[in-house]
Amino acid sequence: MRAAIYARISRDDLGDGLGVARQQEDCEAICRSRGWTVLGLFVDNDTSAFSGRTRPEYRRLLAEIATGKIDVVVSWAPERLHRSPRELEDFLELIERQDVGVETVKAGTWEVSTSHGRLVARMLGAVSRAESERTGERVSRAHQQAKDRGLWRGPIPYGLRASSVPGQPEPDPEQARTVSDIIARVLHGDSLTRIAHDLNVAGIRPRRGSTWTHTGIRRLIESPALGGLVNIDGEFKQAKFHGVVEPTEWRSVRAVLQSRPRAESRRPREQLTLLGGLLVCADHGHVCFGGNATHAPIYVARQPGHCHVSVVRAAADDLVTAVVLERLSQPDAADLFHAERNLSAIEAEIDDLYARRDEIADLVAEGLLTGTIARPRLAGILDRLSILEVQRTPRVIDPKAFVQPASVWAVWSATQKRDVLRVLFSRIAVHHVGQRNGPRADPSRFVLDWNQAA
Ligand SMILES: [Zn+2]
Repeated sequence: MRAAIYARISRDDLGDGLGVARQQEDCEAICRSRGWTVLGLFVDNDTSAFSGRTRPEYRRLLAEIATGKIDVVVSWAPERLHRSPRELEDFLELIERQDVGVETVKAGTWEVSTSHGRLVARMLGAVSRAESERTGERVSRAHQQAKDRGLWRGPIPYGLRASSVPGQPEPDPEQARTVSDIIARVLHGDSLTRIAHDLNVAGIRPRRGSTWTHTGIRRLIESPALGGLVNIDGEFKQAKFHGVVEPTEWRSVRAVLQSRPRAESRRPREQLTLLGGLLVCADHGHVCFGGNATHAPIYVARQPGHCHVSVVRAAADDLVTAVVLERLSQPDAADLFHAERNLSAIEAEIDDLYARRDEIADLVAEGLLTGTIARPRLAGILDRLSILEVQRTPRVIDPKAFVQPASVWAVWSATQKRDVLRVLFSRIAVHHVGQRNGPRADPSRFVLDWNQAA
């Protein structure tokens, strides 16, 4: 079979004919798989169905068909071939006379040898005429091509900005510094909530919305553009532009995010461990969470390529508990729990956030703000509120604790115990051991830094 490939794009975003190149590639693949010989390639680029401009290559294709040199016409989709019912009628008449088949990548074989097939073709033609301005599918194809070429498509994430070259954003000096700080902190094991809080306190604004949230930070970090990469069918490939950090660093931070257990505070209460999220690696500072080894439950910092410090959970709990009970039985223990906290500032922020929430709700009700715009803002507000509500909750310590610490400690919930640990220690850390020794809980591995008041 002798095939002719016809390709056309009506709005070529890239302006360099690659849209056509992609259609051509797909058509050639069909010809290869059917064993057809490609006799001619007919390409009309950058013309519009409404411009009324002539399609020189289409004319040439019709001439070739008329001379009987072509057995089958291959195109990406029916609407590539015909821009109007008039053109379609002429085309149908011609291919019927010459006994030429039509094959499309998108719609398969075009049965035009029967009257039913021709009817279908006419309907398709009418539909595609109506849709000829709908460029979505071609645009997404163009997006795919752009990504294949290492260009960025979609909103540019915080930390980068548009450059003079489309698809090749560049680091925004100030924001890039913030982003590399964020990434360094995540690699270090800091919680996203903590990072968001610090950014908000520092008065740094995200690009959208007014406050940083842990989900916002997660979404930001997950953008491969930050590492100078693009996602091609689930694989991260080197982009044509530079990110904010090196590709390897971005891959590490992504691995950390994906391997990190959900924050302890968001877990169901019964799953709370005593030291999960509080214990850190004394050598690297990474935060350890409850995990399981084959021999026993452990605390472990899972930071691929950075730190895998671990310790048997029961032994660590016992050791820390012994130190706490010793401290609580000291005469001045009760004083420790009266630390000043700036409750009025927290109350003020909570009031302010509720006011903003109501304001947004009003704007939506009045139709001045769409739900799409309002939702992320509301989510940010609720996120922050949930943190503040926890901070506002006063720490209640049973006075009996200071008389008989051990018996009270035994009945306290993990949350209460963890509160006590936060009051007493500025840092609870554990050193690595030699790999052969495994996660032993040798007391000399632990470092307990008391809070100043403690
Ligand atoms: Zn470590």
